[in-house]
This record gives sequence, structure tokens and C-alpha cells, in this order.
Amino acid sequence: MLELNIQSKEHDEARQGEALLLKNDLSTNDSRKLYIESYGCQMNFADSEIVASILFDYGFETTGTFNDADVIFINTCSIRENAEQRVRKRLTDFKTAKSQNPGMIIGVLGCMAERLKSKFLEEEKLVDLVVGPDAYRDLPNLIAKVEEGSREVNVLLSREETYADISPVRLNSNGITAFISIMRGCDNMCSFCVVPFTRGRERSRSAESIVQEARDLFEAGYREVTLLGQNVDSYKYKADGKENEAVITFADLLAMVADVDPLLRVRFSTSHPKDLTDDVLYTIAKYPNICNNIHLPIQSGSSRVLDLMNRTYTREWYIDRINAIRRIVPNCGISTDIISGFCTETEQDHEDTLSIMDLVQYDYAYMFTYSERPGTLAAKRLEDDVSEEVKKRRLTEIVSKQRGYSLKRLENQLGKTHKVLIEGFSKRSDQDFCGRNDQNSMVVFPVVDSYKIGDYVTVLGETCTSATLIGKIIE
Ligand code: SAM
Ligand code: SF4
Repeated sequence: MLELNIQSKEHDEARQGEALLLKNDLSTNDSRKLYIESYGCQMNFADSEIVASILFDYGFETTGTFNDADVIFINTCSIRENAEQRVRKRLTDFKTAKSQNPGMIIGVLGCMAERLKSKFLEEEKLVDLVVGPDAYRDLPNLIAKVEEGSREVNVLLSREETYADISPVRLNSNGITAFISIMRGCDNMCSFCVVPFTRGRERSRSAESIVQEARDLFEAGYREVTLLGQNVDSYKYKADGKENEAVITFADLLAMVADVDPLLRVRFSTSHPKDLTDDVLYTIAKYPNICNNIHLPIQSGSSRVLDLMNRTYTREWYIDRINAIRRIVPNCGISTDIISGFCTETEQDHEDTLSIMDLVQYDYAYMFTYSERPGTLAAKRLEDDVSEEVKKRRLTEIVSKQRGYSLKRLENQLGKTHKVLIEGFSKRSDQDFCGRNDQNSMVVFPVVDSYKIGDYVTVLGETCTSATLIGKIIE
């Protein structure tokens, strides 16, 4: 299974398997040590912050080395087969540590836990604890039971749990940008996708708790929040007992978060083409602090394949949404997800995908070959009949086209000025700052002493590589 992407912040390939650490651990001598490693989408990374927050209240600190941990958690992803293989392989690395410290607890969290349930305990003798994404409040209790000698599973999915009252501790944070989960689960049932089975029904978190979290982050010095959900455009919230009040939509929520402070940048991900409304676009256009950047997964450019995928939109509908974005938010960055070789995909379907890429000219894309997932509608009803060889060849063509457009998009930004939020020092040198412009392009520029991390600066784009704009501060 091949998968490729051109980097962005919402799903960072470089962060896969990262051990998450609390920056200023307020550990005491009797703190127990938690090693937590995360895979998959940004929602999983955000969930790990909730887990650490719950366990912090029970006397745990985080550690970056699993050998000296009392508890090892691996927060897993099931989206493609290779994501699961990666986790299985990683578990074998913990074997020696556990044999040297038999009291060590090893827990599997997240989507793979939910998909495999107690089967995980049968298949992986090393594992003591299997906990699904809606059961994290039960972790202290489950850990206590494991300490008494049992092996535990809690994979109950909930229709209500949003962890709204839990203020997540920020792990591996730069202190400037943070993610806020605004909803959980998904009701869409795309035929290829395992998420509705592993993360349960869609539910929106209360708008007040989201705005409060954004306010708290701003007051703590953060300058950018990304609102996260599998399908943010279907966010809707109505407080209990307030029947006469209107439902808060995603457009309303965006405005509420943007109103926290003009210096707080607001991003969001992911948008579903069937739900992206003009209201949302007008709200983006109205607020200078809502970034002009939309992640709008197409999956396939063929209406026939989109129908089999149960995406509930057509090629024409998608193009209409792109035209609306270009009309209402003229300078908007647009990114996407593409799957090559879905069941029955013909050369003509593949050509349709390539031609929609020519039409939209995406700023960047995540590109995957189709991976059949057990239990999904496609696995039950359709034959995975495109050979691996053809899937890979088509993916290579898609990736090569995208490389051209990613470079072209950056080249178009040369000679122009960009408002950039300084997020830190560049990976290569502490003589350079890095940050993102409104359209989510990474920008690198020499340090100027009068500016610090967390400031906004105007940068002139001078040159670029295939993924980064390079320039200098002019203001
Ligand atoms: N909810 C978002 C959406 O609908 O666009 C994203 C969900 S998923 C976490 C991220 C991406 O993984 C999807 O957009 C899709 O391109 C890809 N994906 C999901 N299931 C897949 C599968 N079975 N094989 C290959 N790629 C898959
Ligand atoms: Fe999966 Fe579709 Fe839901 Fe995205 S919208 S999480 S692809 S079912």
C-alpha cells in the first residue's frame, strides 16, 4: 500500500508515532510515568491531549522514553491497512521493556482498539488494556483494575461524549498554535471509510466550551487555533433547555471564535463538499483573522466512482463549490484528498480525477491508493478489483501532477507580501524563523531581532522549494 502526501499541518506525516510530552511537567516524586505515542489524523493527537489531561489529574506525568514508563499508550489509526501494520510492528518494540518491568501496563487506544475490541487482547498477548475513543474517562478506573491483575476492554461508543468539560493539556506544543476538537464521530458512511465504525455517531461540542477554550488559549499566548472535526461543516449545536434559540451552525461558530480577538488566527479542517455552504464562505471573507484556506477532499473526479463511494455529491457539484470559493474568497488556498484505484475504477475514471486536478490546481493534496477496510460498505458490497500495480501507477500520475501544481502555486506567491505568524525557528537553522501565510504555505525567513515567536510579520516571498516559500521580513 502506497501513500503519499505533500505536507500540511492537519495531518503531519513527520509526526506519526511521535511521543507526546507535556512541556513543563509538574511532576512530583511519586508521579507515575505515562509514555503516549500517537498515529493518524490530528484528531488522534488532540485526543492524546485529553487522555494526558485525565491522567494528569490522577498523578501521572509524561515521559519521552518508554523504557522508564509505568504506562505505555499507543493511540492508533485504522484508516488504511498500513496504518494498522505500523502499530503492530511498534508493539513488538515494547516487548523487551515489558519483560524487564512486568508491572508495566501497555494500552491500545483509538480507532484500532475500537475496530478490533477484545480480539486485540487475544492477538497481542503483550497488551493489557484496549480502550475506544469515547471511553477515555474510564482510564483511571481501568488502570486500577489492570494493576489488580486483570486485562481490560472498554470500547463503548457514546452518542453524547464530547469531552467538552476537559481542558486538554497541550503536548509538544510550540505555545503558539493549537487544535480544538469541535465535534466527534461521523454520520456520512462513505463506503471506503472505517471512521463511522471506529469513532461512532456525529456529535457537536457546546459552542460556549469551544469559545472558552479558544479564549483561554489566546490568554495563554496562543495566536492560532484549528477547529477540528471529520466534517466541520455539519457542526450544529443547540443548548439543552434553550428551545427558542436558533441552532448554532459552523458559520456561526467560526464567527464566534474569530470574535475572541482579531489577533487570534482561525483555521479549520475537514470540510465535506456536500455541506460547505456559502454562509461559511461569506464568514471567511468577512473576518481577516479566519484563514483563507479550505481542505475539500474530492476523493475521485468521476461522478460514477463518487456514487459508489457514497460521497453524495457529483463532479459537477464539487466544481460548483470550487467556483463559489473562488468567487467569494478569491485568494483562497484549496487542498484535497484523493484515492486512486477504488473498486471498479476505469482508466476513464482516473482521467476524470486528473482533469479535475487540472481544473482546481490544488495547493497541496494527500494522495492514497485504496485500501479495503473490513466491515465497510465497500468491503461488503464491492470487489477490490483494481490491481495493486494499476493503483500505484495511477497514484504516481496523480502525485506527479500535484507536484507540478504545488510548485506552481508557490511560484505564484513570489514577489508578493504575506502576513505570517511566526511559529518557531526553521528545522534547518535557528537563524531562520518559520510560520505560515493565510493560505497555509510554510514560509521561512531570516530572524530579525525585533521580532519574536508569536508575532505577525509581513514577509516578501523571494524564492521557493517545492514545499516552502523563502523570503524576508519587510515590516
Ligand atoms: N472526514 C474527512 C473527509 O471526509 O474528507 C477525512 C477522513 S479520513 C481520516 C482522511 C482521508 O483518508 C480521506 O479523505 C480519504 O482520502 C482517505 N481514506 C479513507 N479511507 C480510505 C481507504 N479505505 N483507503 C484509502 N484512503 C482512505
Ligand atoms: Fe470517513 Fe466520509 Fe466520514 Fe470522512 S466524511 S470520516 S471519509 S465517512
